Amino acid sequence: MAEKYLILGTGASGLSAVRTIKKIKPSSDIYAAFSDDHPYSRMLIPYYLTSEITGEKLYDRNEKFLNDLGVKLLPGRKATKLFADTKRVEFDNGEIIGYDKLLIATGSVPVVPERWSSFERVVSLWDYHDVERFKGRLGSADEIVIIGSGFIGMIFANALYKIGKKITIIEKLDTVLPKMLPETAALMFREQLMNNGVTLVTGDAITEIDEKSDKITISTENGKEITGDMAVIAVGIKPNIDFLKSSGITIKDAIIVDKQLKTNDESIYAAGDIAECPALRENGNAIYPTWPAAVEHGEVAGSNMAGEKRDYLGGLLYNSVTFGTISAASFGRWNDTDAEIVRWKDPAKGRFIQFCIKNDIIIGASLLGDNDRIGIIKGLIGQGKKIAGDFLKNPSAFANEFLLSNYFAGNAYKG
Ligand SMILES: Cc1cc2nc3c(=O)[nH]c(=O)nc-3n(C[C@H](O)[C@H](O)[C@H](O)COP(=O)(O)OP(=O)(O)OC[C@H]3O[C@@H](n4cnc5c(N)ncnc54)[C@H](O)[C@@H]3O)c2cc1C
Repeated sequence: MAEKYLILGTGASGLSAVRTIKKIKPSSDIYAAFSDDHPYSRMLIPYYLTSEITGEKLYDRNEKFLNDLGVKLLPGRKATKLFADTKRVEFDNGEIIGYDKLLIATGSVPVVPERWSSFERVVSLWDYHDVERFKGRLGSADEIVIIGSGFIGMIFANALYKIGKKITIIEKLDTVLPKMLPETAALMFREQLMNNGVTLVTGDAITEIDEKSDKITISTENGKEITGDMAVIAVGIKPNIDFLKSSGITIKDAIIVDKQLKTNDESIYAAGDIAECPALRENGNAIYPTWPAAVEHGEVAGSNMAGEKRDYLGGLLYNSVTFGTISAASFGRWNDTDAEIVRWKDPAKGRFIQFCIKNDIIIGASLLGDNDRIGIIKGLIGQGKKIAGDFLKNPSAFANEFLLSNYFAGNAYKG
């Protein structure tokens, strides 16, 4: 009898694993269970919010893709318990499904303080239903407060800015994009946000939210009261691991996997935001909550599940975000305090580059206003090649140096 594969989650990593398994074993028996109503891509949510794409566009392609491959789709199934010893998963509708090989690809969940989770006008915009509800009220809402100025907060700030909403961002720390940019770059980004009409409240944490019939009022530690029509909570995400408690799967911050993305159970793999996997050229593991990482994880896990051994070379943490015409990106260990720092900036053009260097190797970088160089920097850090001293004297010229050196030949790093 054909092996039965159960895939939990049809986001970036789940889809990529299905594609890989079917490529290697076209007649494999795959079940894909997911808690959402449809298999959609979270990355498209901001475009659905701005109506740049329709609701159907969010998931049509994925649904067709899975159906065409003959995958048995089990929508609206939230896994609640894993019985690894008997190879079964229990779902919130009481159903129990067995497997020969299991992939856990259930992603992350947003951190939303319990006391605000039932508010109508305070949302995390994590899933389709959240966005539907939010969009339903958006017509009569002009002032939106974004709580948190990290990657996700900035993505939503940009989406709402595009459709002409008045935006206030509240950030507990002193600078915006605190997990992506050093202070100098963050201040430049902040200035550009303000030039575009965004109100910024930094270095101040919210203490309470009061939801009245058609307004919210947010109180802060510094005694401010900020009003708006709706708020988006974007204060962080965490791997979606609660249903795995007492399953016997080794979990630290997320599910610990080896180079093949296999857990401590021979039949169970994990991929995407929920996997804590080998870090690039470093000891230990890390979580890589980004789309490209999830796709690569899915390929590696799917390949190994289908019997073709493949190793994950290790991930590079990478994030990029745009607000209006301003772009920011961070790579690898951009804030390593032991590293030598090389910076270059041109405030008039809104440009900034910072490299973190250890033993002549670039281990991290931050970038402002130079989107076309993102791929090059990813390659530089990814391969970990030693760099020449002269090169560092003028980081702004690095693209030419880099391309002329035929650097990509034999490049082992993918991404
Ligand atoms: C608004 C937004 C914008 C983003 N933009 C970018 C970007 O521009 N670039 C980038 O690199 N990354 C971006 N990301 C991050 C990126 O989307 C994630 O890193 C990626 O989707 C992770 O893939 P995944 O397969 O691990 O999980 P997901 O894509 O989140 O998929 C999780 C799947 O698991 C299912 N599921 C969840 N819980 C259960 C359960 N208990 N039982 C069964 N099924 C379950 C869900 O239904 C879903 O199918 C964005 C994220 C968000 C929210």
